[in-house]
Amino acid sequence: MVIMDVATNLEKIKTDILEACQKANRNPEEITIIGVTKYVTIERTEEAIDAGITNLGENRLEGFQEKFNHFQDRANWHFIGTLQSRKVKDLIDKVDAIHSLDRISLAKEIDKRAIEPIDCFVQVNVSGEASKHGVDPKEVVSFIKDVERYPNVRIIGLMTMAPHIEDESQLREIFKNLSLLRDKVKSEQYKHAPCNYLSMGMSNDYKIAIEEGATHIRIGSKLVGRE
Ligand SMILES: *Cc1c(COP(=O)(O)O)cnc(C)c1O
Repeated sequence: MVIMDVATNLEKIKTDILEACQKANRNPEEITIIGVTKYVTIERTEEAIDAGITNLGENRLEGFQEKFNHFQDRANWHFIGTLQSRKVKDLIDKVDAIHSLDRISLAKEIDKRAIEPIDCFVQVNVSGEASKHGVDPKEVVSFIKDVERYPNVRIIGLMTMAPHIEDESQLREIFKNLSLLRDKVKSEQYKHAPCNYLSMGMSNDYKIAIEEGATHIRIGSKLVGRE
């Protein structure tokens, strides 16, 4: 595989974002690109920052710490992977958003360790795959109600991971369902859960995700490649 420079990849992704936004009649400024660097080195991550990426995502604590320790305030930091409660204390004062809130025990731990409200996305298992983490769509509203007990947890949106499939209509359906669920939560007007955002779309499906309302796309391989 030819390794393209990150700037070239980013140009292509931005063109795709413009197209998807035009199609869906959306403002491209609503879309935040999170560069997922879990596959790559510090050097390659540096290239992403130099290309203009200001939001970085990692899915494991070790990778998160390695990149955070190196780049610190040169980026905003997103934790996108399954988070074990005992690891919360190691990243809570470094992270700008956690995309994988999927259980009450985790909300409780975040609340306990944080000194100010932490922006979180509730991860939802829209596709129903047994292998996927996330709250059952039917339980999202009551889950969010329960989180109100934990004032240091602010729910800014919903997140999902679509399955690795090619079927565009099936992917679209999943993203559409997350968007409807977001609208439902938003309409409840919970103080602790403004729920304005949708973290959905990865390298293979971000165009469809944007057409269906994504505000945060998490792009790894298509942006920085894999090493
Ligand atoms: C790895 C990962 C991504 C990025 O995946 P790509 O397909 O390489 O873009 C996005 N979100 C999560 C939660 C991930 O673990």
